[in-house]
This record gives sequence, structure tokens and C-alpha cells, in this order.
Amino acid sequence: MESCIFCRILEGRAPASIVYEDETCVAFMDIQPVNPGHVLVIPRTHASCLSELSEDVGTSMFKVGMRIAGALKRSGLLCEGVNFYLVDGEAAGQEVDHVHLHIFPRFAGDGFGLRFGPDYGKMLSRSSLDEVAIKIKDAMPRT
Ligand code: AMP
Ligand code: ZN
Repeated sequence: MESCIFCRILEGRAPASIVYEDETCVAFMDIQPVNPGHVLVIPRTHASCLSELSEDVGTSMFKVGMRIAGALKRSGLLCEGVNFYLVDGEAAGQEVDHVHLHIFPRFAGDGFGLRFGPDYGKMLSRSSLDEVAIKIKDAMPRT
């Protein structure tokens, strides 16, 4: 993809600080880290969203992410915990149109947090949870 910044990195036409690569994935430093040590794992093949990504490649991305999480804890960087974060779609906050998994160190008082809507915190009734669960269950792919 000509216009995709992550494809340009994969092709060596844009700079990146690479921490890991194999035949399926590449991991490099996020240019605007949440905290020092913020890494992105991307598939070598362009996919704009999760529905364009094979489950095998998704599995590989997560596997690489787990190894990076371990490396962050051993690295000497300030890392009391690790967040995995993946945004799929503009409404979820996706800015770069090439699937990527964020992995970043967390520590007490780092200032990172999620904002919630006004309805957050209300416990739903079992019947409303079941109603939603059925919708998702019915939409699951048959295996
Ligand atoms: P999002 O799509 O919201 O997950 O955000 C895209 C992420 O990619 C942001 O954290 C950016 O800082 C990061 N990013 C964008 N361009 C580059 C680049 N050239 N090298 C490294 N990270 C980048
Ligand atoms: Zn791309």
C-alpha cells in the first residue's frame, strides 16, 4: 500500500527502530510513546482491520506481543505492568490503517487512563446481559 506509513516501514522506505522481526510480524518503537518502551507489532501483509487479518497472523502478533511484554519487564525500563491495546476502526480510535498491536509499560502515576461514558459503572441485570450475549453468540462464526 503506497500511502500506508507502516507498509513504507516494512519496505524500508521509512525509518523505524525495530526490536523484533520474523516472517509474519515486525515490532518497532511507537514514535509517540505512551511511556518509554511503547512497541507496535504489525503484520507484514497489509490489513486495514481485524476482519482482513487471518487468525493465524493475529495469533502470531499476540505471541510476539507476549515476548515483548516479557522483554519489557527484563529490560531495565520502568515497567510495573504492561498494557496490550488494539484499536479496530475509526470509532475505536484507529488512526493508522494497518492493523497494529500496542504494547507499553505501565507504572504507578504514569497518567495513562481510559475515559468512560456516563453509563459506565452501572451493573446490568442478568437478563440484559443474557440478551446481549445471545446476539453475540448468534453472530459467532461456526467452527
Ligand atoms: P492508532 O491507530 O490510534 O492505534 O495510533 C497509531 C499509532 O502509530 C500511534 O501511537 C502513533 O504514535 C504510531 N505511529 C504513527 N506513525 C508512526 C511511525 N512512523 N513510526 C512509529 N509509530 C508511528
Ligand atoms: Zn500497510
